[in-house]
Amino acid sequence: MFRKYPSKGYAWWNNLSIKQCKMNYYSTNRQTAEHSFKESVIKGLPQDKGLFFPQEIPTLPDTFFSQLPDLTLPEIAAQVLAPYVSEDLGKETLQQICQEVFTFPIPLVEVEKGIYALELFHGPTCAFKDVGARFMSRCLQAFAEKDKPVTVLVATSGDTGSAVANGFLGLENIDVVVLYPQGGVSPIQEMQFTTLGQNISAVAIEGTFDDCQALVKQAFSDETLTQEQNLSSANSINVARWLPQMVYYFHAFGQWKKLNQDVTELTISVPSGNFGNLAAGLLARKMGLPISYFVAATNLNKIVPDYLESGTYKTAPSVSTIANAMDVGSPNNFPRIQELFGQQFEALTEVVKGFWADDEEIKGTIRLVYQNNNYLLDPHGAIGYLSLKQLLPELKTQGIFLETAHPAKFKESMEEVLGQEVALPEQLQAFLGRTKQVTILPNDYAGLAMLLRQKNKEGTL
Ligand SMILES: *Cc1c(COP(=O)(O)O)cnc(C)c1O
Repeated sequence: MFRKYPSKGYAWWNNLSIKQCKMNYYSTNRQTAEHSFKESVIKGLPQDKGLFFPQEIPTLPDTFFSQLPDLTLPEIAAQVLAPYVSEDLGKETLQQICQEVFTFPIPLVEVEKGIYALELFHGPTCAFKDVGARFMSRCLQAFAEKDKPVTVLVATSGDTGSAVANGFLGLENIDVVVLYPQGGVSPIQEMQFTTLGQNISAVAIEGTFDDCQALVKQAFSDETLTQEQNLSSANSINVARWLPQMVYYFHAFGQWKKLNQDVTELTISVPSGNFGNLAAGLLARKMGLPISYFVAATNLNKIVPDYLESGTYKTAPSVSTIANAMDVGSPNNFPRIQELFGQQFEALTEVVKGFWADDEEIKGTIRLVYQNNNYLLDPHGAIGYLSLKQLLPELKTQGIFLETAHPAKFKESMEEVLGQEVALPEQLQAFLGRTKQVTILPNDYAGLAMLLRQKNKEGTL
């Protein structure tokens, strides 16, 4: 399915028409000096607790877009990411990383006339987060100093933990600690990051995902701990996870164009939690990808849809739903979206439309689409599909929604909804019957800091 990526003398690569600019990243809070790509990846979060953001967003040339339907994922990746990372990685390493990361297909599947699913769940852990986590692990490995082990601290609402654990498993000099809300992830998701052993440890926090995220943030603002333990973050705020997510938006558009040469208007719906994925789609648009509208689709945690309607941004404690990977009450990537629109609310609402659905609507949609279209939606993708059904008549475009995870990752909920068994794909079957290793901690920073120090002393949790 993948064309072999030519290493030398390939006209397209040599003609890379993007200027090799030195790309620095500033903080969206503007209280921290600019950082290189390498520094931004290692640091994860600027000192002022903003988010790293590229100082310049290049526009891709027309020739790129005319070739797009015929380019492979690694080819798209190298071209799109070069201006952001090539100065620190080097072109050759970037090319190689792109080939290693995009080894699985990301097909565009027609669900019904004018509505397509972009299936992002064919990677090793069956969720879109494989893309960012695999890219980041290889960047960090390229940058890590041999004599200075790094501890990657990450909070997960379900899928980040497994993608990061899988991406980093067995890497020398890098330890991973996954924090997750106890009881807040599906049993299969939990198995995927608590049974691996080696350099991967899991900590269940007696709290919500927002609590886990807050603990990670606190650890990074604790300068003593960060330096002493050489902490790095692999959350979606890390630029090395954020940027590569652009790649499949270009790919989706190319595949869609092949099927719809005469159609020009397209809406992409993105089931969102922390809004890193949507922020990547909007960055792709800024680079010239002609998407008319994006939908910010959420579950009951509807902070952003409410904001798009009222103009008031108000975070709230997260509510638990069957689309658990989106149970986020304080979306950490949203400032990047505001930055992309120059902090202009009007400009933002012209392009980004809000949508949310509750559990009953999600369940009804899964049943209906299975009956009518013989297509199995996962609870997150179901919100994306439903948003298009409701918004497209008004927007008058075709639509793609992102299928962000494999339905079998939510086996129990899916089976309850459908009243029949949902088979596990090969990647997930491998986890059945394994033994979990978890440390349980109260929602308390002192305990976490102590545990990280102890772990590094003893080499294990
Ligand atoms: C992480 C995740 C999301 C939310 O993605 P964000 O980039 O945080 O908005 C949606 N669906 C699934 C299945 C996920 O794992």
